[in-house]
Amino acid sequence: MEMKNINILEDYLSIHKNIVVIPHTSPDGDAIGSCLALVQLLNKLGHNTNMISPNEAPYFLKWTPGFKNIIYYDSENEKCSSLINNSELIFTLDFNDLKRIGDLGKVIKQSSSKIIMIDHHQNPKDYADLIFSEPSTGSTCELLYEIIASLGYEKKIDTNIASCLYLGIMTDTGSFQYSNVTQRTHQIISKLIKLGAIQNEIHNKVYNESSISRLKVLGSALKNLRLIKELNTVFMFLKKEDLKKFDFKKGDSEGIVNYGLSLKNIIFSVIFIEDLEEENKIKISFRSQGEFSCNKFANTHFNGGGHINAAGGVDNGPLNDTINKFKKVIYSYKKQLNK
Ligand code: 5GP
Ligand code: MN
Repeated sequence: MEMKNINILEDYLSIHKNIVVIPHTSPDGDAIGSCLALVQLLNKLGHNTNMISPNEAPYFLKWTPGFKNIIYYDSENEKCSSLINNSELIFTLDFNDLKRIGDLGKVIKQSSSKIIMIDHHQNPKDYADLIFSEPSTGSTCELLYEIIASLGYEKKIDTNIASCLYLGIMTDTGSFQYSNVTQRTHQIISKLIKLGAIQNEIHNKVYNESSISRLKVLGSALKNLRLIKELNTVFMFLKKEDLKKFDFKKGDSEGIVNYGLSLKNIIFSVIFIEDLEEENKIKISFRSQGEFSCNKFANTHFNGGGHINAAGGVDNGPLNDTINKFKKVIYSYKKQLNK
């Protein structure tokens, strides 16, 4: 952590009071956890802080402390624009490219507020006045903890803020199993538990309150699993008709792509999901084990990005065309995948 950046942040916070905090579109546990932790901390420090999300979060995050105060740009357009226009500081959390927040990107570009990025994805874009970008840190929540500690506000972390930070670290590390977990991650987790985060409760709320639709959707994806043996790769797909049949809800498909990596020797797993709202939009998730870069693959072929071992992207479809395109380009990675 650069102290210079911490000092600049301190200066910003000493002058400015009206603040907006924004996560990426379809926010996940790390995005929701980091934004709500920051909102609650800043309000405790006497700021007037609101969280604006581009759209809804999945149902299994609704218990998160502060969730009911989130304002949604897709349903409260004008209210959000006016909050942004009246703000002095805008924090963008868990993303590093304005493309990731859709139309909301234009609104914040036009505002005169100082923008602060706090993120851990690769290749940050240059839209912010102050950038905290740490791709080696496993989650935005872990990075935010470090920033809070560097600002000297550790003592302000209460049970609610600790639970939010725990949430993001847990979800972005696959419950502490990925290679992005370090000694430091566990030290921070230890502090968060001491501060009141109840780890089994948080785990159960996120992973063990599934609706039947989540398991049916998982079943459908596993039925559509295809193996490309010589490339140690698997892919799955979810068709719109099946999603409708199983009463798909936002969040039901999260994590399914990881099942591909549970197979012996598989180092690359991909899932293609037909969008229910937009015609011919295919959302894609990539996961890898080891050195194969999902981020580069997503960025080169599917308009996306993320981390080395986890990334996402989109394609225009139709689904069959997207899968055929994938099957074609994947063979140019034969050397990297066939180890
Ligand atoms: P997921 O597959 O869980 O949606 O996303 C995996 C990772 O890739 C997350 O860190 C997420 O922020 C990032 N990601 C997902 N979709 C996109 C995308 O369309 N563009 C970019 N740049 N990153 C994405
Ligand atoms: Mn994250």
